[in-house]
Amino acid sequence: MKIFCIGRNYGAHAKELGNAVPENPVVFAKPDTALLKNGESFYVPDFSNDVHHEVELVIKISKVGKNIQEKFARNYFSEIGLGVDFTARDLQTELKTKGLPWELAKGFDGSAPIGEFMSIEGVNIHDISFSLHKNGELVQTGNSADMIFSMEKIVSFISSYFTLKVGDLIYTGTPAGVGKVVAGDKLEGFIGNKSMLAFEVK
Ligand code: ZN
Repeated sequence: MKIFCIGRNYGAHAKELGNAVPENPVVFAKPDTALLKNGESFYVPDFSNDVHHEVELVIKISKVGKNIQEKFARNYFSEIGLGVDFTARDLQTELKTKGLPWELAKGFDGSAPIGEFMSIEGVNIHDISFSLHKNGELVQTGNSADMIFSMEKIVSFISSYFTLKVGDLIYTGTPAGVGKVVAGDKLEGFIGNKSMLAFEVK
């Protein structure tokens, strides 16, 4: 399976990192070894002193597709989940400065915690609120209404380069409020009021 992520999909987050709002979705991928499931603990890697949480809505692909038109994209996913796109911000900044790819800063082991999924049958996917709490304190809130590129646009865009297969995941970008995690932190993510993801940082 493949894991795609979208960078800079919320204006306020693009701004907090000093990035311009992009014309097309910014796409990168993580290997499947990045996944962290079932509430397993996240271990801060020793190559970074500044690992940031980025809470994101995650699309799970339910049907094989290539060159999917935006108007039909909704037929290719039936569940949404919540995940964290962990980012070694210090390393990413160094790689960006050198014009190098982000994989080392974004795709390392455990960098993609994923929680439960929920059916989106009858759900307005353009109005899904979500949040992340760190040690019981609200640190990030977002709503899919504020996405620069809609879920349909993202699925369509990615499928024009990569065949999407059943089970592939797409992390759809983080809202503002990203911040550092340290050993001992407890993270819990919500869609609406429902807890979807919870784990500890070690
Ligand atoms: Zn992200």
